[in-house]
Amino acid sequence: MSDLLTRYQDSLMGVFGTPQLVLVEGHGCHVTDADGRTYLDLLGGIAVNALGYGHPAWVTAVSEQAARLAHVSNFFTTPAQIELAETLLEVAQAPAGSRVFLSNSGTEANEAALKIVKRHHPGGRVLALEHAFHGRTLGALALTHKPAYREPFEPLGADVTFVPPEDVDALAAELAVGDVAGVFLEPIQGEAGVVPLSASYLRAARELTRAHDALLVLDEVQCGMGRTGHWFAHQVTGVVPDVVTMAKSLGGGVPIGATIAFGEDVATTLAAGQHGTTFGGNPLACAAALAVLRTIESEGLLEHAASLGEHLRGRIEGCHDLVEGVRGSGLLLGIQLTQEVAGQVVTAARQAGFIVNAANPSTIRLAPPLVLTVEEADQFADALPGLLDSVGRQAEGHTVTTDR
Ligand SMILES: *Cc1c(COP(=O)(O)O)cnc(C)c1O
Repeated sequence: MSDLLTRYQDSLMGVFGTPQLVLVEGHGCHVTDADGRTYLDLLGGIAVNALGYGHPAWVTAVSEQAARLAHVSNFFTTPAQIELAETLLEVAQAPAGSRVFLSNSGTEANEAALKIVKRHHPGGRVLALEHAFHGRTLGALALTHKPAYREPFEPLGADVTFVPPEDVDALAAELAVGDVAGVFLEPIQGEAGVVPLSASYLRAARELTRAHDALLVLDEVQCGMGRTGHWFAHQVTGVVPDVVTMAKSLGGGVPIGATIAFGEDVATTLAAGQHGTTFGGNPLACAAALAVLRTIESEGLLEHAASLGEHLRGRIEGCHDLVEGVRGSGLLLGIQLTQEVAGQVVTAARQAGFIVNAANPSTIRLAPPLVLTVEEADQFADALPGLLDSVGRQAEGHTVTTDR
């Protein structure tokens, strides 16, 4: 593995730092590295591998479509593209007149949303939340809060004002200043450390944006596509947004993003020629996404994500002094630690054969495949107190003697 990592460093840009592992294959919820070690993957390629690795329905759909027709350009359409758009409108419970734009990533899904917002109210400002993550291109980056990501590239593609999450008065005050074209929200802020917005905040945001003729855009790139036990996280709130964006789990590992504009007015904001993409909506990615959607349905993965998420939360809450609590819902969980040791926990977990992620220095993020079994979840829950013990001893400066 170290030889491959040396070659990586000599050939790829350093923007990701040093990769933790070189992975060579995956089955179900497990991946294997170049040295032959196998790991239980509780991160799922950051909420992407909804069906795990090598799910037969997904593999069949992707290989059959690859053999038949992989790409045609948007001068043409395909049955897979049309069927995917129809299915997305259905699961999003979008009203008549709603329309889909297909792209290749979460960032692009948000770029399309931003262009809709900009056309809705030309010259207007956009509001986003502190700690928001909406992507890395110059439009989506403008909506992303973290100064270290954003400031080196300013000026960016939109005039964005950040307001604190969960503060209805701050949102109302900023909208009252006027000239707001749209508000971008993640129903669960993923990169921030799995921080959910309350239903009452989302409902207030809906009422306020409507009153000020600003569009409400919900970024469900991470929390959508069944992860919370609902097709979309906002659906439990009853809020009907103007635009919803999605990606990550949608393709089950093949890159695809989608932007749904709710209702005819919003859906016709962008005229022919005002947006486009070469790869977006290609039949290969659409067949992959259709396989994901159909399998979530046929295997009852919404109910499974909800109940397994509750089970995991119950097992993790109070399992150790270092655990302050668990946020999130379904299979998007953030384990809040009492100390900034998330990085050490990730390393200890990996050494013990588990892949998890530090969303920030004090939060462990779990976003496993939706096909994770109760037994697999329990393996992690069984191991967690020991992992936290070893990290806790390190944090206290004691020598770690036991090999877990
Ligand atoms: C991952 C993510 C994005 C960016 O998606 P990419 O596919 O990496 O471009 C945007 N918004 C949210 C909420 C995300 O989690």
